[in-house]
Amino acid sequence: MSINRERLKRHLEELAEIGKIGETGVCRLAHSKEDRMAVEVVKGWMEEAGLTTKIDGFGNLIGRIEGADKDKPILMLGSHIDSQPYGGRFDGTAGALGAVEVVHSMKDNGIVPDRTIEVICFSDEEGCRFNKGVFGVRAIAGMLEEGELDRKDKQGVTRREALKEFGVEPDVTASPVYQKGDIAAFLELHIEQGPVLEEKGKPVGIVSGISGPIWLTVTLEGFAGHAGSVPMTMRQDALVGASETIRKFDELVKKEGTETTVGTVGSMQVFPNSRNIIAEKVEFTVDLRDIDVEARTKLEEKLYQIIEETAIGYNLKYEIKEDTRSEPRYCADWIKNIMREEDEKLGLDSPTLMSGPFHDALFMSYISDYGMIFVRCEKGISHNPLEFAEMDDIEKGVELLYATALRICQGDGDRHLDPKDGSAAVREK
Ligand SMILES: [Zn+2]
Repeated sequence: MSINRERLKRHLEELAEIGKIGETGVCRLAHSKEDRMAVEVVKGWMEEAGLTTKIDGFGNLIGRIEGADKDKPILMLGSHIDSQPYGGRFDGTAGALGAVEVVHSMKDNGIVPDRTIEVICFSDEEGCRFNKGVFGVRAIAGMLEEGELDRKDKQGVTRREALKEFGVEPDVTASPVYQKGDIAAFLELHIEQGPVLEEKGKPVGIVSGISGPIWLTVTLEGFAGHAGSVPMTMRQDALVGASETIRKFDELVKKEGTETTVGTVGSMQVFPNSRNIIAEKVEFTVDLRDIDVEARTKLEEKLYQIIEETAIGYNLKYEIKEDTRSEPRYCADWIKNIMREEDEKLGLDSPTLMSGPFHDALFMSYISDYGMIFVRCEKGISHNPLEFAEMDDIEKGVELLYATALRICQGDGDRHLDPKDGSAAVREK
């Protein structure tokens, strides 16, 4: 084994003490006092690992070790250490501390990286405080939106104020920090936050890509009437229409979706929402995801048909509003290939799987090639104090991260880079 399991375990345990809730939970909201404490502690560990550290104006913690060849595009590793208000101890931290461990292990093993390595703990991945997340990574990638620093939390504190309180001077003109070609590869390890690896009985998975969701809001409108007097044949019941639509949507995704398609209706509003009035208006959300964008589009079109047919059948008006349309982002083939080769050497036999949830890596994909490693987590539970990953599994995942990082920083990344713009030559569709 190449990494120091005991040190990594100790770091995970110590970090989990900051903002600890109950026996196993954590609450480290973005830019909070606890977040700052965590950043300070990890900064110390980065320095022990031989990294020169800084905290940028967006609250990102970045450690850097210069490579022998300073002109080469860098290798970046990392994840986040902020948490949900009622979160677990492994989400983000496994990857962030795993990345620190990779560099520390290189130092222990006397390895001087050929290219510069940066380890990053991205600021505000979770997004619960300001209702918009992946802030730090979007900042460095140049993907911030208008008025981003003026967003307020529930107490009315703006992000700008929170960042100042956190101890940095926010400045949006500093974004983007990196240009295409600056970073040869970004690697992120993360707990799976889903049940697939557990079901397959595998500790580690190689991620194929992150599927983007389509978010829709569907409104069906009928006519309200007294539950006791309007005959069944004369009704325009929006709730019955919505129920039928949702059931058919579920059936559609199960029957015609690919292995990676998931469709969810998670929120519904009924008007006037009274037991003795026929529902006049129902609004519900749709979340449809697939790594295969063609498959997703096919189902999306069929969903529109279902909505239309059901609306006609129940004599309802309908409206479909599109809230979000994200495209899937694929991990670079050359990085996956290195991972598979190293995985075989480690004897892990890791399956390939896609990520339904998004991660910091999704946004890094716009400025760099990226690869992701998943670690099995118990019952797929996450964003919950019950979140749990075995140290044995985390260790295996970080070993794979170490081996992959070593290959990429010792020159293996170069032949995959297009000399003109530095971006990868081949990308899997
Ligand atoms: Zn996370």
